[in-house]
This record gives sequence, structure tokens and C-alpha cells, in this order.
Amino acid sequence: MAFHVMIIPSMDCPSNCSYCWGVDKESDLMSLETIEEVVKWLKNFRKGPVTFTFHGGEPLLAGYDFYKKSLPLLSQQLSHLKPAFAIQTNLWLMNEELAQLFAEYNIPIGSSLDGPQDINDFQRGKGYYEKTMQGYKIAREKGLRVSFISTFTSHSIKLKEEIFKFFLDNNLDLKLHPALPSLRSENPDKWSISPEEYGELLVYLLDEYLEHIDDIEIKNIDHLCKGVFMRRGVVCTYADCVGDTFAIGPDGNIYPCYRFVGMEEYVMGHVSNNPTMEELSQSPAWKSLHQWMDLVDEECAECKYIKFCRGGCPYNALTLDKKTRKMKIDGVDHQCEAYKIIFSEISNRANKEFLSSSIPLFGGSKPKSKKASIMDLMLKSS
Ligand code: SF4
Ligand code: SF4
Repeated sequence: MAFHVMIIPSMDCPSNCSYCWGVDKESDLMSLETIEEVVKWLKNFRKGPVTFTFHGGEPLLAGYDFYKKSLPLLSQQLSHLKPAFAIQTNLWLMNEELAQLFAEYNIPIGSSLDGPQDINDFQRGKGYYEKTMQGYKIAREKGLRVSFISTFTSHSIKLKEEIFKFFLDNNLDLKLHPALPSLRSENPDKWSISPEEYGELLVYLLDEYLEHIDDIEIKNIDHLCKGVFMRRGVVCTYADCVGDTFAIGPDGNIYPCYRFVGMEEYVMGHVSNNPTMEELSQSPAWKSLHQWMDLVDEECAECKYIKFCRGGCPYNALTLDKKTRKMKIDGVDHQCEAYKIIFSEISNRANKEFLSSSIPLFGGSKPKSKKASIMDLMLKSS
């Protein structure tokens, strides 16, 4: 996997989405000194291109000055790593100044929207839709690329047709997330969907995508099809991410990924100490994730999809130990059933297409179907 460093300027967020439990209202803001330490740390850390993704919490809380100073620092002082940038934001705090700056650095934006206003605001909070769409408009006016993640919950999954139509009618590309059981709330399953529901949702979207391939992009389906075709995961969820992805929390602590930020037991080091890869690999966090990879090799050994699934995401494998109240990883990604459903669907359909694609025995040409094929998705350029 390519080298990916996530910078988390704040774990706070002005929104209050019902199913989100990763926000820390007391979070500090990252200082510019921490960015300078990141630069020092990465100067001789690893060769090859790096992508920096600003993530949160809500990364725009850091404000214009933070980006105005950080972006040239990272891009000039680490120019040997050919840095590329991305940001994941709800867009509420987007303004012309920031959009202009992000356009200068060609920064693609990932944002979050769960569908039409009523569905979105029901689960993300009243007023969310308008604020995000306002920021979207500003970003688009400056020519920025924006794509949305839609989180499917126990509420919105019943409205999947309406949600898909919304993205299609508004020319918005789509990436989806299943709402996961909360590791912190008293009612952990209130918003979550089951792995089976998630698998069926992916199959539904695969069918819709094949019907509308020229009008929308569904990134998860692209990644899944490409992974099956290439026999290896093309995004972190289906590849071994440990050692290629790191996240830096607001205080400069280094974690394996943004999803672990704030969890003490997953701190691998601190940027101010300039840790080498060797030193990070001695941390208990690194070792525990490697133990998980060994567990995947064992538990998934018989699975047909292991080469392009790799046990899924280690964060999705976390469970809360009710006795110790600590997180533990004791199995593969809890979405395993969903992955089996969609990988089996893609593989079977691709095989069928392959078998029926032979040249007709008695001359004549193969009838042309208007609908796209799985092979079209597998070969689609990203
Ligand atoms: S922990 Fe999960 S989300 Fe984070 S990089 Fe690894 S696979 Fe991706
Ligand atoms: S589908 Fe499930 S069993 Fe197969 S590799 Fe993925 S996590 Fe393992």
C-alpha cells in the first residue's frame, strides 16, 4: 500500500450526529509546532510518495491560518516525498479563502451526507444538510472535487432507493459506510446495521450501478470489483494497512489510523521523538495489530476471498471487554459476512459473464446488452 499519513488537527466537531461516537468536545487544536515536528519526523522516515489526509473530528476547526502555514511547510520541506493532500470535512466551516487555498494545492474533499434533507437531518441533526450544501457550493465554485460518504443506519437502510435516487439525480458521487455498533454508548446497536444487511445493500447498489454506470460513481463497488479482478485489495480495508498508514493526533501522538486516535493503548510514539519505523514496530500497538494479522491468516485461511479481503479492517474487529471496559481484538472484521456476500456476488457474476462471452459457434455476433457488466467495473479507470 502507498504511504498515507492522516493529520487530525482536532477531535472536536461542531455537528452532533446521532450515530457518531468518535468526537471529543474537550479536544485541543493541533499547533503549528506539531506540524513542524511532523516535517522533521518524516524527512528521513521513509521513501516514496506520501498522501496527507486532514481528518477529524472536524479538521476545518483548525482555521485558515493553520492551513495557510501547514500546506507550504509540508509540501516544500517534504518535496522529496511528492506530497499529495486530501481532506475529510463536513464543510460547515468552508469559506472562500479556504476553498481558494485548497484549490491551489489541488485538494480533493470528502464530505458526509446521508441523502435528502429529511433523511440526512433526521440522523445527523437539524440544519446539517443546509450547512454542508452551503460549503459544497463554495468548494465547487472554486473548482474543488467533492465526493460524499453516506452512512447507512438502521433507519436509512429502509430508504435506500430514495437515497440512491437523490445521489443520482443530483450528480453526486457516492461512497457508503455502514453504521457500526457504538463502542461507547449504552445502546450500542440503536443505529447500526447487521453485516447481512450491509452485504445486501452492496448487492443492491451493484445492480443500480450497472444500470447507471455513466451517471454516477459508487466508490466502494469500484474498489470491490477491482480488488476481485486484481486479486488484491485496492483500499486499506482489504489490504494490510499496518506500517503504511499512520495518524497524528492533535497532541502529536502517532496512531495506526485516525480511527484509533484518542485510544491510549494504540499510541505508537510521538512525532517530537522522530521515531524510526523500527522503533514504532516495538510499540505494543504495532505488535497487537501484527498479532491480529496472524489471527487473520489463521481464521481466514480457508476463505476464497482472503487475497483481496485480508480480514477487513482491524478497527472493525474491536470489541469492548465488558469486564475490563477495555477494547480488544479477538476476531476478524465484524463485517466479514457482508464481504462474503458481495465478493461471492461479484465473483459469480464475473464467472458467468466470462462463460457466456464466448464467440457464437455458428457465426453471427454476440448480442449487445445496454447494461454494463461486472467486467466494465473491473476495468474502469479510477
Ligand atoms: S485501521 Fe481500518 S480504516 Fe484504518 S487504515 Fe487500517 S483498514 Fe483502513
Ligand atoms: S470474507 Fe471474512 S473470512 Fe474471508 S477473508 Fe474476509 S474477513 Fe476473512
